Amino acid sequence: MEWWVSMPKVELHAHLNGSVRDSTLLELARVLGDEGVIVFSDVEHVIMKDDRSLHEVFKLFDLIHILTTDHKTVTRITKEVVEDFASENVVYLELRTTPKKNDSKGMSKHSYMEAVMEGLRSVTAVDVYFAPQNLDARTSINRISINDTYHGATRKKIYVRFLLSIDRRETTEAAMETVKLALEMRDLGVVGIDLSGNPIVGEWNTFLPALKFAQEQGLCITLHCGEVPNHEEIQMMLDFLPMRIGHACCFREEDWRKLKSSKIPVEICLTSNIRTDSISSLDIHHFVDLYNAKHPIVLCTDDSGVFSTSLSKEYSLASSAFGLGKRELFQLARNGIDYIFADAEVKRDLTVIFNSAAKELD
Ligand code: 5GP
Repeated sequence: MEWWVSMPKVELHAHLNGSVRDSTLLELARVLGDEGVIVFSDVEHVIMKDDRSLHEVFKLFDLIHILTTDHKTVTRITKEVVEDFASENVVYLELRTTPKKNDSKGMSKHSYMEAVMEGLRSVTAVDVYFAPQNLDARTSINRISINDTYHGATRKKIYVRFLLSIDRRETTEAAMETVKLALEMRDLGVVGIDLSGNPIVGEWNTFLPALKFAQEQGLCITLHCGEVPNHEEIQMMLDFLPMRIGHACCFREEDWRKLKSSKIPVEICLTSNIRTDSISSLDIHHFVDLYNAKHPIVLCTDDSGVFSTSLSKEYSLASSAFGLGKRELFQLARNGIDYIFADAEVKRDLTVIFNSAAKELD
């Protein structure tokens, strides 16, 4: 097994509906095709297409949501996505998703999230630890990490926490509903709020009241920031002091200065940035500057299904594109522990796992 697959990794920027397997989407599309809801031949090539602009990606999400937004399917995709990340030795996953209301399916934002939680509970292939009070789980992960080598453990272990996403198409009231839901579901492992969705849609001031409320209530916040050159918004987002940001592709000098002085960690999604043409080539990707400046960064997938990637592939890509070796990338993955939104006990457990894996690096 390649080292970038076998080493433990931390995933902090993964959208649930962007991480669905192609095979699952095709299967769901076939069923809806047979039911006459969609025309399968029209959507097959859309699902399988490799290169998409940022605009086309959001059109694809509209299709994916038609295929996946019922309770049973939400449960299924959550289970599969968690199993897929665990299978490549992601030991901590912060999975984000937009709670959806779908009257035709009797779905509320709350019932959507219950279906997500059910998906987590139905994982059998790996051990999942998701609720903060799951003490047995923590004990067991410690025991395995200390008494056994990480790779020697027979069953894979993964910690999962959730971020609830506010879609930029939403109103202030809808955003507030999502924040209140996150507060209600804190005991089930919801740790924060994400702002995402088409970056050319919506205004920062629409989401600000809900984001401020979330911040006051102690929820952790990450923002999709600078996917398009909207400098006024980038400045307002950085002034808000989120705990992390995603992407940071279209920053000006002034934005970099503010980001670096604030030390806000950046979730870097290499394949996504290239595929959507947000960055024209890896040679000029801001990873290099941030890495050399020792700014906090973490490699992430964004949408492993939509962009046909995996976290292991992102590490392999960083290795080949930027000339980083196994030790440097192991350290980069380990640094991710500092930027997770889960509590100090989870950080301690993850440190034990990484320390154990470090012994096998040579
Ligand atoms: P979901 O929240 O439905 O589980 O995951 C898909 C949603 O995540 C998309 O509809 C979109 O709102 C958001 N998303 C996924 N990838 C991206 C991305 O690269 N940029 C932005 N801004 N939003 C994204």
